[in-house]
Amino acid sequence: LQGYVGFANLPNQVHRKSVKKGFHFTVMIVGESGLGKSTLVNTLFGTTLYPKKDNVEPTDETPKTVEIQSLSAEIEENGVKLRLTVVDTPGFGDFVNNEESWKPILDNIEARFDAYLEQENRVNRRKMVDNRVHACIYFIAPTGHSLKPLDVEFMRRLHTKVNLIPVIAKSDTLTEDEIKQFKQRILDDIKFHNIQIYQAPQYEYDDPETIAENKEIINKIPFAIVGSDREVERDDGKKVRGRKYPWGVIEVDNPDHCDFVKLRQMLIRTHMEELKEYTSDVLYENYRSEKLESMGV
Ligand code: GDP
Ligand code: MG
Repeated sequence: LQGYVGFANLPNQVHRKSVKKGFHFTVMIVGESGLGKSTLVNTLFGTTLYPKKDNVEPTDETPKTVEIQSLSAEIEENGVKLRLTVVDTPGFGDFVNNEESWKPILDNIEARFDAYLEQENRVNRRKMVDNRVHACIYFIAPTGHSLKPLDVEFMRRLHTKVNLIPVIAKSDTLTEDEIKQFKQRILDDIKFHNIQIYQAPQYEYDDPETIAENKEIINKIPFAIVGSDREVERDDGKKVRGRKYPWGVIEVDNPDHCDFVKLRQMLIRTHMEELKEYTSDVLYENYRSEKLESMGV
């Protein structure tokens, strides 16, 4: 065992520590009203953070700005605790003039960076609270065409501040072929506009199984999502989470039916630490040095 340092166990140690402390993850969801944001959050974490609604009717009293709503829940699975914060942004894209819809969202993300920066400058830095946004799931309407100016504007304004994860909302309203073409158009648009979406890293030293799994996840971006917080009955009588149509049932948890499982795997299982690290080491660091520079520090 000469020369054995033991750093191969480091990932495990980090993991053990995190398990003891519990995980804390903050995800923001953005997209036009009615695209299924609240439903997806409930589906994702298997807990009802929002009251169930049968139908979302547009109301007469339209708010005039984008709201920022922060909801937290503690989820425990096999003794591992996850403190999940969801930052919802109702009102985005709902106004006659949506030119500045991105602004309150950017302000919120930066305010969270500022709060962190302020803690770092304190004498006692032992009890740092990290409320930075680690990922932003951006909902694209299932038009089948291309990105809207609203989508492009939002992503361009935010891509250097947060890990952007685009998803196709309500993908059960598109056929398999339509989804395939729509995904390609979205990726082309993103490239054309020089938008930087979250690039999940791949490590060559991972085991082949992990590499294959990661590749499969990454290849699904933008994830085609179906959300449902209720169970429906399949033809064979089995109850599944999904949406029922005259022609059959779309299952949320079936990777052959939609990319929901892949999105969840990426967020919770394979890339949570990566998303946090990139937020801290790159996005926050850039923000911090720009800010200090502008202050003449
Ligand atoms: P939000 O305004 O973006 O938060 O949207 P909601 O989650 O409130 O959903 C709006 C409506 O769309 C509700 O009637 C949902 O049942 C429905 N919905 C949510 N997700 C899906 C989906 O994946 N497919 C379809 N077809 N409908 C959905
Ligand atoms: Mg909602």
